[in-house]
Amino acid sequence: MIPGDDVSDYDLVVRGGTVVTETTRRTDIGILNGKIAAIGSDLQGRETVDASGLLVLPGGVDSHCHIEQLRPEGGTDEETFLSASISALAGGTTTVIPFSVQFKGQPIRDTLAAYHRLARNALVDYSFHQIITDPTDAVIAEIPEIVASGIRSLKVFLTYDPLYLDDRQYVRVLAAARRAGALVTVHCENYEAIRWRSAALVADGRVAPKYHVWSRPPAVEREATHRAIALAELVDQPIQVFHVSCSEVAEEIARAQARGVKVWAETCPQYLVLTSADLDRPGFEGAKFMCSPALRDAATRDALWDDITSGVLGIVSSDHSGFSYDGPRGKRMNGSDAAFPDIPNGLPGIGSRLALLFSEGVGKGRISLKDFVRLTASNPADLFGLAPRKGRIAVGADADLALWDPTKQVIITNALLQHAIDYTPYEGMAVTGWPVMTVLRGRIVMRDGTVQAAPGSGTFLPRAPYDFIQPAGVLADGFDASAFA
Ligand SMILES: [Zn+2]
Repeated sequence: MIPGDDVSDYDLVVRGGTVVTETTRRTDIGILNGKIAAIGSDLQGRETVDASGLLVLPGGVDSHCHIEQLRPEGGTDEETFLSASISALAGGTTTVIPFSVQFKGQPIRDTLAAYHRLARNALVDYSFHQIITDPTDAVIAEIPEIVASGIRSLKVFLTYDPLYLDDRQYVRVLAAARRAGALVTVHCENYEAIRWRSAALVADGRVAPKYHVWSRPPAVEREATHRAIALAELVDQPIQVFHVSCSEVAEEIARAQARGVKVWAETCPQYLVLTSADLDRPGFEGAKFMCSPALRDAATRDALWDDITSGVLGIVSSDHSGFSYDGPRGKRMNGSDAAFPDIPNGLPGIGSRLALLFSEGVGKGRISLKDFVRLTASNPADLFGLAPRKGRIAVGADADLALWDPTKQVIITNALLQHAIDYTPYEGMAVTGWPVMTVLRGRIVMRDGTVQAAPGSGTFLPRAPYDFIQPAGVLADGFDASAFA
């Protein structure tokens, strides 16, 4: 291209930013028809964005977030696809994988159809994980069809009423996923141990929010993680462990990975930034920090960074959960003196995920810029079958970009995050580095915090079969029991 030539090869050129790919360099990106068409110098576009002084990162992929989830008692989470999308785009995230929940006694087909309808308002691109709570013969029989429709990940809970699966049920889901070609993601905590300890705490009058931490110490998470992995090994079915809170759990995963087991794992910003002391804030404030697994102490939190730099935990997702502090379905739904077992669990974080990991990770020298991209975009895209379309800045990929000002200093407030939840656990926290523009499939959808995109402009991402999650092919005695049950 000759400079000054009036021929525009591209719809949009992002000029002179520091582009983070396998190598990090100052260059231009040329976008045509929503795709990255060129990476190089002196590109000419019908529209140009000056990115000098900014980092150009792939749009974030949040592979674990709860959006407009249907409730067992009726209704949905207050975070809608519209509000969650706005928060995601404001925070530099362009792709999300929320959940479709199958409740006991219901077929999957109908619930998944309901989520597809709800997601029609999305401004971000999305897929779903299908939660299985009731693996009856009829539900198991539906799994091949659901997976073939592009839902290549199932999710199971080893704790929580009324979601949890016992070992037999979990093995059945693993076997069904193996037959259908889907990944299984797992919430690992020991159901009976938590019930036993919670009942004892309540009997002793220890009911304040901080006792939520006491109800589920690391041993209950470590035991369930070990069991989840061992049973996955038995079936020869790849799994991902969700929201690892501490290194003693990560050690179980590292051991299995060293044996060649196809197990991956993630953590979330809350486990890297907050601590169990936050649950001991005055009054009922501690409820704002209740999530499961629980937050750990400061030393445990600080050690967890080593597990993301080592690669044992390959993804940092938000686990964004839709509970306000006030309101009929919020943390105080059972009053401001509710016992911890009666307080909804979960923290909002879809909009703050990238800024927190950037500031606390890259900014403080704990992780590299390349690590940041790997943890927040490339790895989730690879693991969940969204690559090569999502997760990287590469020719042929969707033009999903976060333009990042690495020097911008921001005090986090709830208003800045633009979600529907009435609080953020990070209120008042100072961060350095903030997204100033988000591009989704070549369209500028956020500029200086203002999100401009039409409801429904997000698109469903059906996931085709992919090699990454193929079973390892290691079966005890060479016998594939999952072919029979
Ligand atoms: Zn979750």
